[in-house]
Amino acid sequence: MSFLKDTLSIFKKSELVFIEKVKESQRVYSFLFKKDQDLTWKPGQHGLFTITHKKIKNHTKPFTVSSIPSEGVVRLTTTIGENPSDFKQALLELEPGMKINMSGPVGSFYLKEKSPALFIAADIGITPFRAIIKQIEGENIGKQVKLLYFDSENMHIYKVDFKNVDVDFITTKEQLLQEINIFKEKHKEKGQYFVAGSKDAVNMVVEHLKSSNIAKRAIKKDVFVG
Ligand SMILES: Cc1cc2nc3c(=O)[nH]c(=O)nc-3n(C[C@H](O)[C@H](O)[C@H](O)COP(=O)(O)OP(=O)(O)OC[C@H]3O[C@@H](n4cnc5c(N)ncnc54)[C@H](O)[C@@H]3O)c2cc1C
Repeated sequence: MSFLKDTLSIFKKSELVFIEKVKESQRVYSFLFKKDQDLTWKPGQHGLFTITHKKIKNHTKPFTVSSIPSEGVVRLTTTIGENPSDFKQALLELEPGMKINMSGPVGSFYLKEKSPALFIAADIGITPFRAIIKQIEGENIGKQVKLLYFDSENMHIYKVDFKNVDVDFITTKEQLLQEINIFKEKHKEKGQYFVAGSKDAVNMVVEHLKSSNIAKRAIKKDVFVG
């Protein structure tokens, strides 16, 4: 049932008003939009965002909503390099008051059970965890979760948002796999594993989890393709 709910919500359309952009690091920006009263989402879900202020080829792309509803904004955080796509160039051109469309929220990458959880983020794959961690802070189950945030360039963002959570800012694959093993030993079959980031990074982590005999049902993936 929840699968249907998390998928059919793609038909919900919202028009969002741009408020401001925030530079998170050298190459990462957050774009903040006003949240309509009737728009809500489960922390960790994503939307399909459409550029409307100009005509571009690939005008719709999926992005995680990295905020939670009680913040009153829809926050989208993304890497923007030296030669951005037309979509990201259009995001950079947004001025306060301009609009963008959102379909959704969709997806099942959110916490369902309150069992111990390991969040594994690779680079920009940190976006769903900002929202999920903000949610659980409010629910007071922070002690049961750990965040492993891997960024080989040591450009970790959102540090201020992770003050009340057990987090390791990691720069090497070896350290990442080692920390996964420590969590696994501690929580055995009770642990859940959430992995988000690029396809290569997610596959690398999932292969490690499977080779460590973690059951498939204990692993949730959010693969940033698009
Ligand atoms: C469920 C889901 C959630 C997502 N959430 C987010 C999110 O929160 N934040 C986010 O940034 N993205 C997210 N994405 C991915 C997002 O939709 C875009 O696909 C991604 O940001 C790339 O954007 P772009 O194609 O506009 O290219 P740009 O990033 O502007 O890059 C321009 C071009 O450069 C090339 N390029 C860029 N990076 C690489 C690379 N590493 N290797 C090789 N070529 C490269 C590609 O040809 C690309 O088209 C999500 C995707 C999914 C499916």
